Amino acid sequence: MTVKSYKKVFKQLKNKPAKMKKYIKHNAPLKREFGKGANRCRVCGSTKGMVTQYGINYCRRCFRLNAKKLGFKKYH
Ligand SMILES: [Zn+2]
Repeated sequence: MTVKSYKKVFKQLKNKPAKMKKYIKHNAPLKREFGKGANRCRVCGSTKGMVTQYGINYCRRCFRLNAKKLGFKKYH
């Protein structure tokens, strides 16, 4: 599952520069330095359930799918 991106509309608005400018002004997300919106999953773009340990920046769902590839082992 992926997260909605405000850049998807750019394809429609590329021939209308004035509307594009206005759209960006009102819809671009704020730059966050801390808090929930500061980190995004590098695979799906989600901000929820982030694993930022060791700088991997995956959400918990993508981490679960890719943990073996990253070299993590499950100890019981
Ligand atoms: Zn993810």
